[in-house]
Amino acid sequence: MLRLIRTGEAVTRADIGRVTGLSRPAVSLRVTELLDRRLIVEDNEGPSTGGRPPTRLAFNAAGGVVLVASLGASRAQIAVCDLAAGELARADLAVDVEEGPDVVLPLVMRTWEELLGDRPASLIRAVGLGVPATVEFAARRTESARIMASWTGVAIPPIIAERFPVPVFLDNDVNVIAIGEHRAVYAGQADDLLFIKVSTRIGSGVIAGGEILRGALGAAGEIGHIPVRDGGGVLCRCGNTDCLDSVASATAILRRLRSRGYEVKTLADVVALVRGGDAETMTVIRDAARMLGEVVASAVNILNPAVVVLGGDVAETFQPLVSGVREVVYRRSTALSTRNLRIERSRLGPGAGIVGCAHMVLDHVLSPEAVDSPP
Ligand SMILES: [Zn+2]
Repeated sequence: MLRLIRTGEAVTRADIGRVTGLSRPAVSLRVTELLDRRLIVEDNEGPSTGGRPPTRLAFNAAGGVVLVASLGASRAQIAVCDLAAGELARADLAVDVEEGPDVVLPLVMRTWEELLGDRPASLIRAVGLGVPATVEFAARRTESARIMASWTGVAIPPIIAERFPVPVFLDNDVNVIAIGEHRAVYAGQADDLLFIKVSTRIGSGVIAGGEILRGALGAAGEIGHIPVRDGGGVLCRCGNTDCLDSVASATAILRRLRSRGYEVKTLADVVALVRGGDAETMTVIRDAARMLGEVVASAVNILNPAVVVLGGDVAETFQPLVSGVREVVYRRSTALSTRNLRIERSRLGPGAGIVGCAHMVLDHVLSPEAVDSPP
């Protein structure tokens, strides 16, 4: 019933009765429950058609809030969103995630409290976090953190629940970004989407049939540790050689340039070299694009996505990387899988994590099971 009201399919008690086949008293009882839970409101401003118009029901996005945070290796976006995933307040902080959960989680929780301002705690429905680690989603526990060992095996929800006693949901940072990009830009038109984040690290999130694909334990989409051809024998921190992550990430691009004698500290230095038309820098980026493209081509053969979205600061900064990937994928993937394939740059940019976290949480908060559970 809530879904019918949210989507606008049925917004009066009579329409709901018609669509669901429920009796008038049954509809009335459920509507009262939804009103009590502040998930819907009555809107009497509907168009008058002569006589008293039936009361229209509307989803109440202001009936609660969710607390969300998207943590990257060095940045965090922290926000309070309404029940329609709209951002009410947001803070972007520089955070060294390697300082570990004991430092980072209290900072995130303090920021939520500041962002909440005068809003009563009773409005908070749930918490959602994206973390730069593989997450065993069902157990809501981080697993083999891609970052420092201090996060490995940490059960984050109990720590959060001490301060905010509401359900806590956790997912991998790239998964939440993929969810955000899909829901905000492609929902309904491209429900099979492969999102690839090329930043300090390389990771991916897979949307299949509109849902995030997590795999058996939450490790799906670890594209960064697929080996490439002609990588030069680089040892990856996972112990293998020539993983995509160790040859095409921002870290790898900087390392390659340094080994050729360039004094580059950050991506901004690389951007300056590209702007100046430096041929060797362009070669390094084209090389990264070639290796990224080969792995993406294989992923496209397996998944047959409608769209591949390239995000993360490397992809957002270097157009040649995106065109390089496009070229390789169209050459190496099967004809059928590339027939209608689009390869695009991320449209949401850094804000995608927040949007994705909010949707991940709201899918649960507004699910029939959660709505039907005792308050
Ligand atoms: Zn590796």
